[in-house]
Amino acid sequence: MLNSPSAIALSKEGVFSQKWNGFNARLAQQEMAFQVENAINTRSTLVAESGTGTGKTFAYLVPAIQSGKKIIVSTGTKHLQDQLFIKDLPSVREVLGIPCSFERLKGRANYLCLLRLGRSDGMLFKQPNDVTDWQKIQEWAKHTTAGDISELTQISDDSGVWPEVTSTSDNCLGQKCDHFSKCHVYAARKRATKADLVVVNHHLFFSDMAIKGEGFGEVLPDYDGVIFDEAHLLPEIAAQFFGFGFSTAQVTALCREIRIAEAADKSGVPLSETLDEVEKALRVLLLAIASKDRGELEELDNMPAYLDSRDALITQLGALSSLLESASVSGENLASVYQRTVDLLSNLQRFAFPDERGIVYWYESTRRSLRLQATPVTVSDQIRKNLLSEDLAMVFTSATLTSEDDGAHYCQRMGLDDTEVMQWGSPYDYRSRSLMYVPDGLPDPSNFRFSEEMVKQVLPVLELTDGHCFLLFTSYRVLHEVREILAELEKYPLVIQGEAPKHKLIERFHKTDRAVLLGTSSFWEGVDVKGDALICVVIDKLPFASPFDPVNKARLKHIEDNGGNSFYEYQLPQAILTLKQGVGRLIRDELDFGVLMICDPRIRTKSYGQKFLNALPPMRRTTRLEAVSRFLSTFLAKP
Ligand code: SF4
Repeated sequence: MLNSPSAIALSKEGVFSQKWNGFNARLAQQEMAFQVENAINTRSTLVAESGTGTGKTFAYLVPAIQSGKKIIVSTGTKHLQDQLFIKDLPSVREVLGIPCSFERLKGRANYLCLLRLGRSDGMLFKQPNDVTDWQKIQEWAKHTTAGDISELTQISDDSGVWPEVTSTSDNCLGQKCDHFSKCHVYAARKRATKADLVVVNHHLFFSDMAIKGEGFGEVLPDYDGVIFDEAHLLPEIAAQFFGFGFSTAQVTALCREIRIAEAADKSGVPLSETLDEVEKALRVLLLAIASKDRGELEELDNMPAYLDSRDALITQLGALSSLLESASVSGENLASVYQRTVDLLSNLQRFAFPDERGIVYWYESTRRSLRLQATPVTVSDQIRKNLLSEDLAMVFTSATLTSEDDGAHYCQRMGLDDTEVMQWGSPYDYRSRSLMYVPDGLPDPSNFRFSEEMVKQVLPVLELTDGHCFLLFTSYRVLHEVREILAELEKYPLVIQGEAPKHKLIERFHKTDRAVLLGTSSFWEGVDVKGDALICVVIDKLPFASPFDPVNKARLKHIEDNGGNSFYEYQLPQAILTLKQGVGRLIRDELDFGVLMICDPRIRTKSYGQKFLNALPPMRRTTRLEAVSRFLSTFLAKP
């Protein structure tokens, strides 16, 4: 037995076996807990890949609580953050009998802003749903103590009312706000400074780090160590926060705020005309780029209409900031919007002169908005400088950090050079409870008839499983093509990404007999459907990221420019990690069973296909439908 307090607590003779009904002591869990404990005690770094079912959550919570140190636990999703705070932490603390205090801290957009709620007007919402949502929020605001918007489960996360009653760092008045003493955002932060263990999400963690890097105030309290769960998401999230951006939606919101603030302003500085000019310049800019959607900034810079309208917007924002500067001298009302105008103008100007090295400049647009974004090609240097240089315990854990038993790709992206990745495989019996089916005869996914041929091969499998299936796609195009064919057949109830928020779709999938869910990237991970509801996962193609995506393209070029092979060093390991995530949806419990169907023939025909196969759990494989039928018949009751 491992001689450490956390491993002992999780052993057969330990406190969890004694007090937790149905607790199953697992050696992998004890070993990981031992390593986490060691990392916390010695303030060192641990990178741990822990397969589904090893019990990694307890393997890090137990040593974190036992350590008596101030620990931050950061999750990739708010869903896991809530689960840790509401369910896991209270249970683990109770079993251990240690009086550890813990708090959950989210980004400010998750808390009701009392100032903005007071200023909002239900009559101004155009959608009837929004008016009802606003009324519910008014009622809830009277009795909520934490102001956490997730308490109001009957209002969807994407309701148009939330942005009107929550704050951003741009529009929050901070200590100057009349509601500061009762503010939910600041109350949550205050509670977090006192807690032993604080649960945050990666977005909050990195936004705090980015602010800290610029010398501004911090949100997170001082801590001895940080444990990142769902750590495979970190490189992309870090890249968002070490970059900068500008969006027309920010300007639209700013103009609205200025008009509200102007009504109470006594400076006498006339703003309306200039605001009209700013809004007009925005409209002209959006018209100029109407046909674009996403690409490198260079594409826009080659369009004279874009350049002219962008420069006109810069001029108008400059005029507005001059007026606001004079107006804000005489009162507080316009001071915060003045600063926001200056910041927005400065960011837009950075896109007019995109000359920073190591940064990829790109844009994304719809008919109603344009977002300009600058993303660092690599984040390893920033992470080394801002995070790893601190004398802290660091634990990075996830079910997918290695591709083909090798964590070098992840460690290199995270600046964790020469760090060994410790691995604990899943305890589930994949060999006897799962089967991988790669049918013969499917064309290459680039073939124009791929969707049609895919459905022909998928239908017999759906008949065997009677629905109960996830169809996971790498593109919306194929998803829609397959959806059209399946919808016409009317054989299975379809649950389709985009028709409702993700958690509602999962709920619908659970409740609907014979359901087939069609989803893209967001359903490849963070979805946990146990039992007979899900017995088949179909993957349309190997999930290589598009080489035409501007950020991806810049990363590939960076590797080639430095003498590397971008396919083997980036595209392939990245695709393997994504495939492992998707495959991970199938077996979520030791009693689960199911079929994994991969419709991309390249997994068998290309030399790199073997690398994908080597990285997946040890499933039996077949190319024959009869084998699938035989396999399922051993688990499914015959009619
Ligand atoms: S301090 Fe900021 S978040 Fe809090 S109520 Fe005031 S404006 Fe809203």
